[in-house]
Amino acid sequence: MTVLANVLGRATIVTGEGGIDVEKASEERFGPDPQAIYDRWEEFLGWAAGYEPDPDRLPPIEVNELELLSPAPFPRQVFGIGLNYRDHAAETSASLPERLAVFTKYPTCITGGFEELLLPPGGHVDHEVELVVVMGRPAHRIADWEAWSHVAGVCVGNDFSERILQRAAGGQYAMGKSYPGFGPIGPWLVTPDELTEPDDLALSCSVNGEVMQSSRTSEMVFPVPLIIEELCAVVPLLPGDVIFTGTPAGVGWVHDRFLRPGDVIESTIEGIGTIRSTAAAG
Ligand code: ZN
Repeated sequence: MTVLANVLGRATIVTGEGGIDVEKASEERFGPDPQAIYDRWEEFLGWAAGYEPDPDRLPPIEVNELELLSPAPFPRQVFGIGLNYRDHAAETSASLPERLAVFTKYPTCITGGFEELLLPPGGHVDHEVELVVVMGRPAHRIADWEAWSHVAGVCVGNDFSERILQRAAGGQYAMGKSYPGFGPIGPWLVTPDELTEPDDLALSCSVNGEVMQSSRTSEMVFPVPLIIEELCAVVPLLPGDVIFTGTPAGVGWVHDRFLRPGDVIESTIEGIGTIRSTAAAG
């Protein structure tokens, strides 16, 4: 039961009283690198469960959202799932995929949840609020019923997408979704046991305060356990890997409304929190 943040590059446990620096609290048993913690996830959870805060020795720090970087800043693999909500498939006139529709976002697109979103020149950039899963234990050829136990936690993400490039040449998903900053993740990582029902979370996205997307993760065609089972039937999943699990209806290109400089995009998931990107000319 842990909320883990990346505060200016340092792994930090977030409590009601404030942030606790993992390296200092663990007396250097764990280093500051948030990505490295996933390679020792079981050990970290065990330590965190037994840690007794000592405010005299280590006063909790104030957590400022502008200092929050991605909880998984340098994943070895990043997966995206296409057309994973019925209403989104319907709005794009696509038929529901019979198998999991998988693409990659290259890891250099990953950023924190409060960064500027630089719009490529002439771009048709669109928002896609998504539940993001970060793997904790290696997973290869596992079944859906054991999938959640391999997950470190979940975050709020936005799978920003440049629609012209995405649809060019028969489909260039990996490119159209991988400009720098197109993979914000935040505000922090929440372990699954913090959530009463991790497969049924409200998620929404607003642009300049107007709600554009609003759904629940229980509307997924392939829920998280099935996504993991299907992915790792082929590709071994590594600790710290990131999965963008698909977006519900309400994306902009259906209405020919793309992101413009100055737009503020807020993405929220129940039980996790909110991230906020501000668009600017890139
Ligand atoms: Zn997406």
